[in-house]
Amino acid sequence: MAETIFSEMSRLALEHDAINLGQGFPDTPGPREVVDAAVAAMHKGWNQYPPAVGIASLRTAIAEHQRHWYGLDVAADGGVVVCSGASEALSSAMTALLRPGDEVIALEPYYDLYGATAELLGARLVPVRIHAPDYAVDADAVRAAVTDRTRMIVLNTPHNPTGAVLSRAELQSIADIAIEHDLVVLSDEVYEHLVFDDERHIPIASLPGMFERTITVGSGGKTFSVTGWKIGWATGPADLVGKVLGVKQWFSFAAGTPLQHGIATGLELPDERLEALGADLGRKRDLLTEGLRDLGLEVFHSKATYFVTADVAPLGVTDSLEFCRSLPERVGVAAVPNQVFHASPVGVETQVRFACCKRDEVLADALLRLRKL
Ligand code: PMP
Ligand code: GLN
Repeated sequence: MAETIFSEMSRLALEHDAINLGQGFPDTPGPREVVDAAVAAMHKGWNQYPPAVGIASLRTAIAEHQRHWYGLDVAADGGVVVCSGASEALSSAMTALLRPGDEVIALEPYYDLYGATAELLGARLVPVRIHAPDYAVDADAVRAAVTDRTRMIVLNTPHNPTGAVLSRAELQSIADIAIEHDLVVLSDEVYEHLVFDDERHIPIASLPGMFERTITVGSGGKTFSVTGWKIGWATGPADLVGKVLGVKQWFSFAAGTPLQHGIATGLELPDERLEALGADLGRKRDLLTEGLRDLGLEVFHSKATYFVTADVAPLGVTDSLEFCRSLPERVGVAAVPNQVFHASPVGVETQVRFACCKRDEVLADALLRLRKL
């Protein structure tokens, strides 16, 4: 397998001492209580293997989170499995449910892990494109992509890299197709709390008839700005979650005990604290969007996530991959070409994803550097 774009761009950023607006990770330490709880757990000696399914207090906190925010009735025992990041939850779910030759539908652009995992399994990812600037879901195109080999739809809302947030109507149209064709939905919701303005995240599992066919994936790393902790989870009905656990136990067996304690504490923070994380990021989205527009670039409106997409064609660029590979050395900034999230780059050759989850002064410095272009 080729090196991921995130490894490549972060390596180039280090090599050229560039500001890394490529791989999405914040440059602040995360909520104090969350970090303190993990440190306290280490000092208490809670440093040995946890149960493969995850520690009880975190599973209870995740189940309560799904109930509190979305009214979902998730069982802490049987309906939750803690994983090494959302990544392992996603790859375990795909491994559990897909066989060689099966097809899995994903909205394109799609997070690179879905395509790579499908490939490792001998399954086929079938992309259905959503287009800038509004990234509306074309339900007819999703329906037309279903064949008798289709087993699963992978959904990602809020959506990386576009910052789209799927509406209830869009989710309903996908739910109708999943129910009609008896498909499982794997719903990647790692950016659930990183939504801006008046947007609201809706889990597809909360739509009628969907809980029993949906595996919902969350990420403590994303929600609490501690991406290096790699604590994620899958929730859903016991039969599907049991299958995820069955695979995941053979991947990592379990994820870091003290970090699970830290994330459990995070999930118990007052709602305002989670909302503040989204609001702060929304302000950074504005700073970056306005800064890139001042450079003469077309910037597509991002409603959520760590990311903003710009079209760099006005800079004379024809290939964003080449552009991003040279950018760290040329001006000291790293970014990610959107074409890596596509099966075919046609139509997105000049789109570039910039991360906005950095301190204000770092974003300002990056924009100053980009001016040299
Ligand atoms: N899904 C999406 C859409 C992502 O952007 C990421 C990157 N964090 C992941 C999954 C993986 O999350 P984690 O770091 O918790 O493994
Ligand atoms: N999800 C992060 C991004 O989109 C990258 C995570 C990784 O490096 N695998 O930037």
